[in-house]
Amino acid sequence: MKIPLSTRTGTVVTNSSNQTFRNIAEICTVLRKNALMNQQLHCPKCKKTALTHAGGAFANTALPERALECEHCRGIWVPRGIIDAWRDHPFEEIEAGRMPSISPDDLRTGLCPWGHGILIRARVEADRVFHLERCGTCRGVWLDKGEWQRLASARFLDHLDDLWDPTWQKRHRAEHSREEIDLALRTQLGNDLFNALSSAIEAVAQHPARAQVLAWIHDRIK
Ligand SMILES: [Zn+2]
Ligand SMILES: [Zn+2]
Repeated sequence: MKIPLSTRTGTVVTNSSNQTFRNIAEICTVLRKNALMNQQLHCPKCKKTALTHAGGAFANTALPERALECEHCRGIWVPRGIIDAWRDHPFEEIEAGRMPSISPDDLRTGLCPWGHGILIRARVEADRVFHLERCGTCRGVWLDKGEWQRLASARFLDHLDDLWDPTWQKRHRAEHSREEIDLALRTQLGNDLFNALSSAIEAVAQHPARAQVLAWIHDRIK
């Protein structure tokens, strides 16, 4: 990056990309960042394949950070800035369509492309079970092929960090298994009876005589 001296105005310096800097420390930070950006990063799974800028929905964002893709295994490295931006604007609608299969690379973990060591896995239960990997230092996330479409359709993009939180995982599993029990019972009882029972339960769940109602039901149908 060239910073022409002719564009100096007082203590503010403007470079050719119209970025302005107030002091030398700011200039050094940007130079360091650009040097890192130009460095070749390698795929956490294929090791030797260099990562390139990801296309599709990832190319259409106005975010300053770019996601990187491995042309060999089609995995995507998503930097922290995009994960944070997803919290407010997950771009799930951009890539609707057929769900690609998940890469067999999902079975093993890899190393952070920035050199921070081994990535930490988190289990995801969507239309099938798979694993995401996150760097504990830079908080970037590696998505194997087929994973990001699943995260988007299961509405995980806006709270991706939760997947590494054991308390959230426990609660999520409990809710998931309750949904499965509900579905099985609805199939056995039929919609009308299941809905009538659900409404009755909702009506008495917070009622002061809840305990008496439970004892009464137990007495009536035992
Ligand atoms: Zn790869
Ligand atoms: Zn890292």
